[in-house]
Amino acid sequence: MNYDYDLFVIGAGSGGVRASRMSSSFGARVAICEDRYMGGTCVNVGCVPKKLYVYASEYSNHFNEAKGFGWQSKSVSFDWATLRDNKTAEISRLNTIYDGILENANVDVINGRGKIIDPHTVEVNGKQYTAERILIAVGGWPFVPDILGKEHVISSNEVFDLEVFPKRMVVVGGGYIAVEFAGIFNGLGSQVTQLYRGDLFLRGFDNEVRDFAAQEIAKKGVDLRFNTDVTSIEKQADGSLKVMLNDGTNIVADAVLYATGRKPQLDNLGLENVNISLTKRGYINVNEQFQTSESSIYALGDVTGGMELTPVALEEGMTLARALYNNSSWKIDYSNIATTVFCQPNIGTVGMTEEQARADYPNVVKYRSSFKAMKHSISGSQERTMMKLLVDGDTDKVLGVHMVGADAGEIMQGIAIAIKAGASKADFDATIGIHPTAAEEFVTMRTPATD
Ligand code: NDP
Repeated sequence: MNYDYDLFVIGAGSGGVRASRMSSSFGARVAICEDRYMGGTCVNVGCVPKKLYVYASEYSNHFNEAKGFGWQSKSVSFDWATLRDNKTAEISRLNTIYDGILENANVDVINGRGKIIDPHTVEVNGKQYTAERILIAVGGWPFVPDILGKEHVISSNEVFDLEVFPKRMVVVGGGYIAVEFAGIFNGLGSQVTQLYRGDLFLRGFDNEVRDFAAQEIAKKGVDLRFNTDVTSIEKQADGSLKVMLNDGTNIVADAVLYATGRKPQLDNLGLENVNISLTKRGYINVNEQFQTSESSIYALGDVTGGMELTPVALEEGMTLARALYNNSSWKIDYSNIATTVFCQPNIGTVGMTEEQARADYPNVVKYRSSFKAMKHSISGSQERTMMKLLVDGDTDKVLGVHMVGADAGEIMQGIAIAIKAGASKADFDATIGIHPTAAEEFVTMRTPATD
């Protein structure tokens, strides 16, 4: 059969772009369609603008801490419109770069929403394209539960572009996005209340890390309220939002951000026209070769419900391209993927939590250190850092590494290489530190914690 393309990719986010340009580089004839913005969530309403806003929000601490180092300044002020518009300009620049990357890679870019018509046909803007294989890489979309007044809330799709800076902000949720945005708006000067329905936010992270992070975040000024949820939201005459809580109290805010998870973006994708099964949680079911139950259709990235992280989607995209068009293996090692929550201070983590390690290993040895970083000896900040190593006492292998502290994301990337290489505690001990850094603590912890 003669198809228009070897591969037709639906969705130009991290996974789709990587898969399409690499497949093309191996000689495949590739098209990609996208109905919103080049680069997907990460570039447009995720990692990239989020990190820019984290940088912006950290300046308030820097200004305060500078005084202890002798810097005098008259009052400083923050202008939201400058940050927002500079961010938008940078994202536009990146969108153009993505267009250029695809063009240079000889990938045909089609603007519009792709709808699957049959196992080898996709329709975009009324035109049909045939392909030997179709790849679904449409990602996810913020999920907001059905609460009374849902129409008044914003999600991470809108939060970057608010017209007016919210002086009072309520953030609902206890995952990555909620914790990061509570920190961002707190640092930028909003009065932030974060509501989480459970006992302690960041479920799935190491329990001591969660506790320590909660203390540090609260110290920075975020009003953390656990075991608290919203019952309804009402818009008041002055435009403010009255957020009614399950304990009978209420909070008045200028904006309410819901960061209560994401769902796969499957609407109008034409799944009803083919035989694609979904997981119990509603994601596209794929085998180890990213193949759906319709053998010519593949899916990867957030839409498949694995770890919703850009580097994971990139790896999946590369693996698919290499395996389909360059005779390589399909194998991806998903173990020990390092991750960072860009709260303030950061949480960086790789490997097992203490709870996972103790469930799987009978003899876990824990090393933990908590200290005030050198900078804060005269900065006036009360911020503390925590580091933690979990070791299998029988083999000496390091099972998990965790940090709450400045630059934990940057530090953890290097540690992740050691863990991936199977480092033992003896390897950490034999590593001579870089002085004076906070990171050197990872190679100088010698006494196991007894609790
Ligand atoms: P998460 O799944 O991480 O967190 C969702 C949060 O919302 C949880 O605390 C959850 O509570 C809570 N929640 C879910 N449903 C409800 C509800 N009906 N009412 C109240 N609370 C609710 O999702 P995020 O939206 O924060 O992020 C999505 C994914 O994006 C992350 O899992 C991560 O993989 C990725 N991401 C990664 C980042 C990074 O690498 N730095 C940054 C941002 C996102 P509970 O725990 O009780 O279920």
